[in-house]
Amino acid sequence: MPGFELFGPEEKQEVADVMENGFTFRYNFDHMRNDRWKTREMEQLLCEKMNAKHAHLVSSGTAALQTAMAAAGIGAGDEVIVPPFTFVASVEAVFMAGAIPIFAEIDETLCLSPEGIEAAITPRTKAINLVHMCGSMAKMDEIKAVCKKHNLIILEDACQAIGATYKGQALGTIGDVGCYSFDSVKTITCGEGGAIITNNSDIYENAHMFSDHGHDHVGNDRGAEGHPNMGLNFRISEMNSAMGLAQLRKLDKIIDIQRTNKKTIKDAMADITEVSFREIPDEAGDSAGFLTFFMPTEARTIEINKKLAENGVDGCFYWYINNWHYLKNWKHIQELKSPAALPITLIEDRPDYTKVQTPQSDAIMSRTISMLIKLSWTEEEIAQRIANIKRAFA
Ligand SMILES: *Cc1c(COP(=O)(O)O)cnc(C)c1O
Repeated sequence: MPGFELFGPEEKQEVADVMENGFTFRYNFDHMRNDRWKTREMEQLLCEKMNAKHAHLVSSGTAALQTAMAAAGIGAGDEVIVPPFTFVASVEAVFMAGAIPIFAEIDETLCLSPEGIEAAITPRTKAINLVHMCGSMAKMDEIKAVCKKHNLIILEDACQAIGATYKGQALGTIGDVGCYSFDSVKTITCGEGGAIITNNSDIYENAHMFSDHGHDHVGNDRGAEGHPNMGLNFRISEMNSAMGLAQLRKLDKIIDIQRTNKKTIKDAMADITEVSFREIPDEAGDSAGFLTFFMPTEARTIEINKKLAENGVDGCFYWYINNWHYLKNWKHIQELKSPAALPITLIEDRPDYTKVQTPQSDAIMSRTISMLIKLSWTEEEIAQRIANIKRAFA
């Protein structure tokens, strides 16, 4: 998955172009930048590649989530349905917005299920944070129908799924607003960075202003700009965008390599009878950053996870016991640990997060192992890997 594996002269050259000819700031300074606009260029390329009207780069995927929520009008006291299997950021961003995360069940897509969402809806539900985990997608048609019926905003956290599509549409562009992450270990990287993507012009307008203290970005005198709303600084720098631009140009190649490598390993594992694969609603659109499979029991999963490591199969994740990706292991979130009181502590009938149960998700995640698909593997390394996997299962 990690785009850093393909770092080359292209990234260096783009960053050097900012240092030698351009300027570090994404806005203004026209007299200093010699027409270098790396952030704008990357935003335009994102729009083209994802076939979306608007893209706005920010300083991280987390900042993108925070910006997307504010821009879509999700805030104090709103309930946002979230999955128990995700990176913590998808849940933290909801708390920081003053909203109330409501955990719902996932299905064998490893994303929120349509039934899970429906069961979690209350009169206070405003939105879902639909996380497309590990490079693949949720059941979009069914979920869209549920959200339409209940008038819910769909925020797509596609931080791990850039380059994936569902029925030809880029993940991130199917709901109301989508987010990508370009941190150091994602499919493509800016070093640190993220993006909001949307076809909704109101959300876009709110987003670029929110992520820059409310600046309306009208005219070319920054000091004289209007500020219709408050915001924060989630700006990306031109150096980060320059790196990301070179990486985004490699995205198609990255996805191609991932698909080829994943298929070789998946085909080789097809005859292991105790293994069943993750459900992928549109397999042709899988970004193939991970190969994810289920074992028949939790005990066997623990055993196989150990055997894979012993046989030198690196890059395997047993998320169920992972500190950062599964609700069960987030004691700090369950107990609302924070250096300062969170807005949610003012809401008296908030959920008791120490008591939230997601038994269906537990039953799935306790049997799930993901393997990272690397870009730099040689054919020999893949053949060796397959032999090692077979030995682990023997
Ligand atoms: C990486 C990630 C984020 C956060 O992105 P950062 O750029 O690291 O802030 C959010 N959600 C998911 C699902 C992620 O994997």
